[in-house]
Amino acid sequence: NEAIMETFDTLMPKAMEKNLSLNLSFKSGIPQNVIGDPLKIRQIMMNLIGNAIKFTPKGSIAVLVDRATYEGDRLRLHVAVKDTGIGISEDKLPYLFEPFYQADHFMVRQAGGTGLGLAITRKLVQLMDGEIYCEPNPGGGTIFHFHVLIRAESMSSISLPETNMEKMPEPDDSLS
Ligand code: ATP
Ligand code: MG
Repeated sequence: NEAIMETFDTLMPKAMEKNLSLNLSFKSGIPQNVIGDPLKIRQIMMNLIGNAIKFTPKGSIAVLVDRATYEGDRLRLHVAVKDTGIGISEDKLPYLFEPFYQADHFMVRQAGGTGLGLAITRKLVQLMDGEIYCEPNPGGGTIFHFHVLIRAESMSSISLPETNMEKMPEPDDSLS
């Protein structure tokens, strides 16, 4: 989960530039320091949070590690990345993870990109024996859910207090 923290450090300035709040939380009882595959997890988080920032003109992005279930000696972590952005219409959902797919929306055209992010993300999730899917955020925007299987040994037996990082930049009217 250091990988998640690192991703936050990298992406926080981008979020702040757009006055978006970026929040990470762990449901209580979820081990916070487990041995994963930091490179893959980092890449997955970068893509999902990067998209969330790109496609959210205002509001917030929340990353919630919301469930952990044991499978033998391994741990399945369930993560949700929620944004309050432009959303994705229901009929587009089946295509999102196809290589080069990009929705026809001015913010998407403006942002550029290649449409490969989610295709790569899905591959990485599958390499970790997991699945990823997307649903509309009932409050507007998008929620990406994924789960991955990681080795379960704790790096320390100390239970950490619940993390709740939140950055709320001051509103700045000079930004569009
Ligand atoms: P790249 O990741 O290669 O820079 P991209 O971000 O456009 O380009 P993907 O990450 O694969 O490509 O996403 C595919 C498409 O899914 C996007 O172009 C956009 O239309 C839609 N999409 C992805 N994430 C979101 C989101 N959080 N909110 C709204 N639309 C999204
Ligand atoms: Mg992308």
